[in-house]
Amino acid sequence: MTEVVPVRYGAVEAGGTKIVCLLGSSPSDIVDRTRIPTGDDPATTLAAVVAFFAGHPPPAAVGIASFGPVELRPGNPRYGHITSTPKPGWRDADLVGPIRSALDVPIGFDTDVAGAALGEGRWGAAQGLSSFVYMTVGTGIGAAAVVGGRLAAGLGHAEMGHMSVPRQPGDTYPGGCPYHGDCLEGMAAGGTLLARFGRPGEQLDGADLRQAVEWEAGYLAEGLRTIVYTLIPERIVIGGSVAELPGLFPLVRTKLVEALAGYGALPEHSAEEFVVPAGLGGMAGPAGALVLAENALVAAG
Ligand code: ZN
Repeated sequence: MTEVVPVRYGAVEAGGTKIVCLLGSSPSDIVDRTRIPTGDDPATTLAAVVAFFAGHPPPAAVGIASFGPVELRPGNPRYGHITSTPKPGWRDADLVGPIRSALDVPIGFDTDVAGAALGEGRWGAAQGLSSFVYMTVGTGIGAAAVVGGRLAAGLGHAEMGHMSVPRQPGDTYPGGCPYHGDCLEGMAAGGTLLARFGRPGEQLDGADLRQAVEWEAGYLAEGLRTIVYTLIPERIVIGGSVAELPGLFPLVRTKLVEALAGYGALPEHSAEEFVVPAGLGGMAGPAGALVLAENALVAAG
């Protein structure tokens, strides 16, 4: 019997503090992995990424899922670059170029949120669905939509975390978004809990925890209402540290149904499996980068 050796891909999940690199074919077939601190000098950091892959037989393709904002239009001269990040040294940094020229393989590139969406779609909480939304609620709020089996994309990537949401009753917090103040991210990202209660979400208890979950569920439900009405997803998957607040999901489901108020509401919207926790945790991004690599290989023919 001939042993079938799966095609090996390289995965790069670039975050603001660390870059996770994997070599493998799926989350259950990882040949090697490493974590590289995201230093202030992109050239040094990316050289370490290249060195990781150079220590192995070359992958068939590499997928890069990066913090952003990023330039995603293939014809744009700055395709593959991080654009306007406040992170020192990384503004206008070219991620794709140095890795492509060093490894000479097809490179897939998208946001970290889009990567996580692809990972959840292939191996996590959205398996088998062709239209779904993945949202992460942590330091910031980001979401990516898969529509008809493809990531929704146009001039760039979506910024659903910055949609407008109505203020929840009794909440006087002005909002933490430097651009919009009280947008969804400004009212519901992790830092807003610290700002309101003086403690991060994972340390809340008692009345503070109940209030935090009430407001958090209220803002997320309003955001999901807009997503339901605009993207008609089959499921919404929510990951990130804030999604770990105890009791959050049942309340988000209840408040979403209330927010829809019977208009355009389907039986599926009240089902427990419509709004679900992420299935892959921290592995979603790197797993999605494997999918980006596979897509790049297919596109390269
Ligand atoms: Zn905003």
